[in-house]
Amino acid sequence: MASPTVSNRIQLVQGDITRQEVSAVVNAANSTLLGGGGVDGAIHRTGGPAILEECRIIRASPDYKDGLPAGQAVITTGGKLPAAHVIHTVGPIWHGGQQGEPELLANCYHNSLRLAAEHQLASVAFPGISTGVYGYPKKEATSIAVREVCQWLSENQFPQTVVFVTFDDESRRLYEQEL
Ligand code: ADP
Repeated sequence: MASPTVSNRIQLVQGDITRQEVSAVVNAANSTLLGGGGVDGAIHRTGGPAILEECRIIRASPDYKDGLPAGQAVITTGGKLPAAHVIHTVGPIWHGGQQGEPELLANCYHNSLRLAAEHQLASVAFPGISTGVYGYPKKEATSIAVREVCQWLSENQFPQTVVFVTFDDESRRLYEQEL
């Protein structure tokens, strides 16, 4: 049987990332890994304390004693979420675009997808990393998200499916245009 095309492996959903029935949801975390607002707050609220417990264990390792740097990703349980796992990645804070923000945001997608592939996860749902309180312009962020995901899917079997989850109409339109 022919393998599905990249576009057949991408879905766009408008809704709440904590409700997605996928193998892993990606958390737009902050470098402390100890919780925050936006997507991060929603994931910990809905997923319960097991997620935070694993984050604390990760933070206790010498590699992450100063926190998770922007662009990197780690994986924990999904706790009580429908998703079995949470991939936590730290987006760059937007400072105007001259401080490596595009590369760091691309790394978030790439490293999250790499973790998903290492764990042979079938499906992964991404929010618009950095496009909330971190202030990344949505159009530019969407373009990077779509580019990195398409590139990954064209070269890798896992994850089989990627879901872009948008909250608002403007974001959904931007993904529709980009896809
Ligand atoms: P960051 O700190 O990386 O900017 P935020 O969590 O503030 O992350 O926001 C990232 C994006 O996710 C924003 O576009 C925001 O509108 C959206 N968002 C916030 N809550 C949810 C949610 N529960 N499900 C899906 N998307 C969400």
